Amino acid sequence: MAHIISGKALAAEVKQRVAQGVAELKAQGHAVCLRVFLVGDDPASATYVAGKQRDCAECGITSQLVRLPADTTQQQLVEQVLRASEDDTVSGVLVQLPLPAHIQEDAVIAAIAPHKDVDGFTPVNVGRLVLGQPCFVPCTPAGCLAMLRAAGVPIAGRRAVVLGRSNIVGKPMALLVLREHATVTVCHSRTQGLADICREADILVAAVGKAGFVTADMVKPGAAVIDVGINRNAAGKLCGDVDFDAVQPLAGAISPVPGGVGLMTRAMLMENTLRAAQMAAGQAAL
Ligand code: NDP
Repeated sequence: MAHIISGKALAAEVKQRVAQGVAELKAQGHAVCLRVFLVGDDPASATYVAGKQRDCAECGITSQLVRLPADTTQQQLVEQVLRASEDDTVSGVLVQLPLPAHIQEDAVIAAIAPHKDVDGFTPVNVGRLVLGQPCFVPCTPAGCLAMLRAAGVPIAGRRAVVLGRSNIVGKPMALLVLREHATVTVCHSRTQGLADICREADILVAAVGKAGFVTADMVKPGAAVIDVGINRNAAGKLCGDVDFDAVQPLAGAISPVPGGVGLMTRAMLMENTLRAAQMAAGQAAL
């Protein structure tokens, strides 16, 4: 039976550490504040943002939510983001994605100052990650790496397979485990022989967005399986990309959904926000 990597327990530990760091900064008179921009009224985005606000409250971080109507222009949003980037009372700036179709996400993300880019999505931070330089790492891959470390999964020299190549999960995940000296393969919708590739993985990270995509025959016995997917199964129940019940008996370690990567993603955002505030106070570097 696989060791279950609980995102719940680990996220609670991370948030406790963050709360302590926040309290220390605030005692010295420094601001610790996350400003979140939410455009339009996508219910899923509103739920994610509400979760972030709860996490901020738990950690003692001031959370400022800027709600903007769906017909906000790109220029209006960019101006607001630039203003937040220049505001000394704001430690971290986050733009909740997706944005309405008439707004180019790249243009808005590029307006976030790299030293406040707590999601790690700006070209500067992405470039630093590619170059192996210190940077803000996107929260979901950072959470996955923290889970692997917490479970004592060896990474250096091991084969890692990442399913998915999105800019927010798959690509940065691959770069992170590469930085940790894994031998990395990235798979996507055009990959041929995907099951064979997966079976070679000591570490398998699934970020596809399809319920039950990873089946038992795709997993090497003893492998560490990290499930990033957030889906609903036929019964409407929240589930990941991995057929958990079938894979758990043969994996070495596995993260559940719910109670896995999602919670760690949120905790990593708190950690990044604390770091941004520490940097502003001259107490930390990237
Ligand atoms: P995207 O839709 O941006 O990317 C999905 C990736 O999966 C793409 O690279 C796509 O390939 C690949 N893919 C799709 N179908 C197949 C297939 N049949 N075989 C192989 N690869 C395939 O999704 P995200 O990366 O944003 O998210 C992935 C999942 O993770 C979603 O369920 C999302 O909800 C979840 N998520 C969870 C988070 C968390 O905190 N737990 C945070 C962010 C996302 P191609 O590039 O060729 O199209």
